[in-house]
Amino acid sequence: MEIKRTIKYEADRVPGFGREIMSVPGCEALEHCIQCGTCSGVCPLSIYMDYTPRQVMELVRSDFKNEVLQSHTIWLCASCYACTVECPRQIRITDIMYELKQRAIKERVYPRRFPIPVLAEEFTRMVHDHGRISETRLVSRMYLRTRPLAAVGMAGLGLQLLKSGRFSWKQDRIKQREQIARIMEAVDRENGKTEA
Ligand code: SF4
Ligand code: SF4
Repeated sequence: MEIKRTIKYEADRVPGFGREIMSVPGCEALEHCIQCGTCSGVCPLSIYMDYTPRQVMELVRSDFKNEVLQSHTIWLCASCYACTVECPRQIRITDIMYELKQRAIKERVYPRRFPIPVLAEEFTRMVHDHGRISETRLVSRMYLRTRPLAAVGMAGLGLQLLKSGRFSWKQDRIKQREQIARIMEAVDRENGKTEA
């Protein structure tokens, strides 16, 4: 993926966004970023990102909400914590990436047809509804939402795996799954992700 080097305009800013992120516990130190680029240098995935971690930090701080929430970078971050360990200002870059991912899902502004956020969304929904995931159903839903044509192309292989018992269409469920749903809803409320 090519790193974006487009000019940013004042009109594209969403005033207050940076402050909002920096008010989240664990994200406060972003204010002290010196743009040294160490995070981008140590990140094993930065060469695939549209904005490097250093750029994301500055975009957040400068209120460029849409750029960061719609970027591929936050979804390519593998949470390896290398950047967080090396940052000379003790900025918890990985946690900031998590916060951005959560907001992108909540506001449904993640890149459409990009598998990682869709997988995260479907995974959470499945755990909420059943208490367990079914790998077959999870992967099928992800393919249907992101690459439906590829899903059709893989149908033959899927059927073979189902026939041989390597895949199962069965959806396991835990008992009293309404309890786990209530826990997840309470966590969302606590984090301001849903209305009370
Ligand atoms: S390593 Fe830390 S201080 Fe340096 S650019 Fe990255 S976030 Fe900023
Ligand atoms: S935590 Fe994410 S941004 Fe930081 S180095 Fe690892 S992959 Fe890169």
